[in-house]
Amino acid sequence: MRKPFIAGNWKMYKTAAQAVEFAEEFKKIYRPSDVRVAIAAPYTQLWALKKAFEGTGIGVAAQNMHWEDQGAFTGEVSAPMLKEIGVDYVIIGHSERREYFGETDDTVNRKVKKALASGILPILCCGESLKIREAGKEKLFVEGQIRADFDGIPAEDAVKITVAYEPIWAIGTGKTATPAQAQEMCAFIRDVLAGIYGEDVSEEIAIQYGGSVKPSNASELMDQVDIDGALVGGASLKPADFLEIVHF
Ligand code: PEP
Repeated sequence: MRKPFIAGNWKMYKTAAQAVEFAEEFKKIYRPSDVRVAIAAPYTQLWALKKAFEGTGIGVAAQNMHWEDQGAFTGEVSAPMLKEIGVDYVIIGHSERREYFGETDDTVNRKVKKALASGILPILCCGESLKIREAGKEKLFVEGQIRADFDGIPAEDAVKITVAYEPIWAIGTGKTATPAQAQEMCAFIRDVLAGIYGEDVSEEIAIQYGGSVKPSNASELMDQVDIDGALVGGASLKPADFLEIVHF
């Protein structure tokens, strides 16, 4: 039985003090339920957020990490560094990293494997651009991403991965995919995973939808059978908005 999973992605917003302020406000209104909840924050906030959320069950996620444990990689952060401060999840392959920072399916695959080996749960992002969708090639494209990003990952690890289907044309644009469009793609991703791992395994893998999720559209998206949660950008920055989505 897949449990709903709502994760906020703060991107490059908030200072550590502002993150703690959010956590304190959120804790006052949050009531734990059957929904898994996490916040993905910039590195400088992770330690403080982890402490602020202690005892709440709310997870903390990084937004990226390197695939090596250590080395001459100026500006990078590794899995052991994140693990030491209690980070629970890491977003890997967000479209903004693929688009602006040269992330490829090869680096995504290496990072996912390292996260799994380090006991950090990956949230693996995939999704097509508007150009690809307009050309009718979204399934072909996303299948390519899934096959490459899961390459060499055994079934017992694959079930620990959350896939976030995030059509690039819906991220930060206010233009949400319709529930039917989002369901169609999430079901398709589950089919691709079933082709790799078999149906039993694919039924265990959580698939989130991401792209302009907000309080007003969260529940109809979550109602779809293959959508197990959401990766929420802009609407996760305010405690009240994020709470409404968590309590969809
Ligand atoms: C995201 O950052 O992954 C995202 C989906 O952003 P937004 O909700 O703002 O579209």
